Amino acid sequence: MYVNLGELKEKGSFKKFSDSYSPDNIDYFNREVKIPADFAVSLTVYKDSDGFIFTGRLTGKFILECSRCLKEFEQEVDRELNFTIPLEDIDEISRVNISSYIHEVLILAIPIKALCDSDCKGICSQCGADLNQESCDCTQEDLDPRLAKLEQFFDES
Ligand SMILES: [Zn+2]
Ligand SMILES: [Zn+2]
Repeated sequence: MYVNLGELKEKGSFKKFSDSYSPDNIDYFNREVKIPADFAVSLTVYKDSDGFIFTGRLTGKFILECSRCLKEFEQEVDRELNFTIPLEDIDEISRVNISSYIHEVLILAIPIKALCDSDCKGICSQCGADLNQESCDCTQEDLDPRLAKLEQFFDES
């Protein structure tokens, strides 16, 4: 994502702009974070004596897989953007690439633990039932493995 800063010559001059940012799906510690649509970026950029100061917002959504029930769900993203690009980092004033700054904020918006709902009951580790939709009897039948062996012994004899 590029922005032309050539018109901001005086210190204190600024401009507002908006654009869309279209990242690829993100592989986040072996979890896939899907990006279903472009993110919206709205920014104001101010010229300072030794660089450009950007402030604004990044909005869009992720599709994440719930770490308990493994269902995909949408998560809204609405983050503040706040970064400065020093003049010495700029090669071409008419075409300044700001993607890496936006991407960094996007990565920080990914939750460490993805949950479709803080009350998600997950899936039964034994029968695979989605415990948000149905209940199962596994917990009641969840015998001590030694007792289960004993039970099997009596069944066979
Ligand atoms: Zn869930
Ligand atoms: Zn079960």
